Amino acid sequence: MNFDIATAMQLAATMTLVIGAGLAFAATGYPPDLQRTINLWVRGLLLQTPAYYLFALRGRVPDLFSIVCANVLLMSALALQMHALREFKRRPSRSRVLAGLVALTFAGTALLTWAWPSFDARVVLVSSIIIAMASLGIAAVGGVRDVHSRSEHLLVLFLGAGIVIMAARIVMQPAAGAPNLVSYTPLQGIVLTYASLLPVITTVAFMLMCGERLNRDLARLATLDPLTGVYNRRTMDDLAARAVADARRHGRPLALLALDIDHFKGINDAFGHDAGDRALCALVALLRRELRAADIVARIGGEEFVVILPDTGESDAGVLAERIRARVSDSGFTVDGWPAPLKVSIGVGALDAGDFDGLRRATDRALYAAKRGGRNRVVTVSQVEADAVAEA
Ligand code: GH3
Ligand code: MG
Ligand code: MG
Repeated sequence: MNFDIATAMQLAATMTLVIGAGLAFAATGYPPDLQRTINLWVRGLLLQTPAYYLFALRGRVPDLFSIVCANVLLMSALALQMHALREFKRRPSRSRVLAGLVALTFAGTALLTWAWPSFDARVVLVSSIIIAMASLGIAAVGGVRDVHSRSEHLLVLFLGAGIVIMAARIVMQPAAGAPNLVSYTPLQGIVLTYASLLPVITTVAFMLMCGERLNRDLARLATLDPLTGVYNRRTMDDLAARAVADARRHGRPLALLALDIDHFKGINDAFGHDAGDRALCALVALLRRELRAADIVARIGGEEFVVILPDTGESDAGVLAERIRARVSDSGFTVDGWPAPLKVSIGVGALDAGDFDGLRRATDRALYAAKRGGRNRVVTVSQVEADAVAEA
């Protein structure tokens, strides 16, 4: 096979430059936090480009450039990309370790070029540092076990392949390796093919990961209330339909709480809208503490929430509602040190032969009865019905 390593290196360099420039252009359309991470990745690609050009010029330019500078540029590029991966996954930075590997590349290649010149020893050094970089990349994504998406799998697989190829290079170089970087041997061919694919495959995987992140963020925006993080009204309708179908299929009870903050306008008027927002978040935090994981909380209006309680009958839901009411009332909510009494009224109902809309209306009537009854109280649908019978 006629495989010209230097020409292939130049092609890889040009491809890396084009990918980097394209990505820098596309990144401007991403949200700021992703843009910052993509820009780190782009800087890595832009450092990888001169590294590959300099490798291609081995023997035609001084060793300082084609050995020391080229390897330092390559490791700086990989270090930036591994740093970008950690930032993307919101993991603590490993910049000292990465900088240490770049410094080791500089010192090692310089010594093995001028003090004890040895291509074989440089192959061992550089391949080992690439193995360390790839391992850091795999760890950044979450290790082998904790990888979630297909694009993360792709990245881990490709970095893993790099580790295997570099390990093979370390073992085989003394016997079957080339005398220098630009002579062809099957091993050099595999290493070069991997090096050329590295910027392409890892960038594709990284951009797919960014796309998945965007999709997840959009899905969250569409399903959750941005202030409190609980479900919004639309999602509640979907989840309610599913919860009701489950309850009917398994013949299990299902209860509903309709919860409204008392005199919430007063908190806004006295302390300002931000304080009102904090009160809403404090209420949700308290609800999360009192409820089970299977319970569904949704904000369906300004200061109105519903809670769907699977596997719960009206009387148990009433006990829970009373506990929530008492905890809210005793929560001692303050704004900037000033007491801002937070109280809630709760209507409680349970699914009967009717549909979920009927249960919503009945529970709302119980909530209004609690408001009419003086607020800061719990009223069940059964109580409302009993009162209606008594009045009739
Ligand atoms: P009641 O006891 O009868 O429920 O009285 P209320 O004051 O709680 O009820 P009302 O419906 O009169 O007022 C609700 C207030 O909630 C009015 C509105 O400005 C406020 N509000 C709605 N959404 C938000 C929000 O997202 N943040 C803040 N801070 N206030 C909100
Ligand atoms: Mg209210
Ligand atoms: Mg209200």
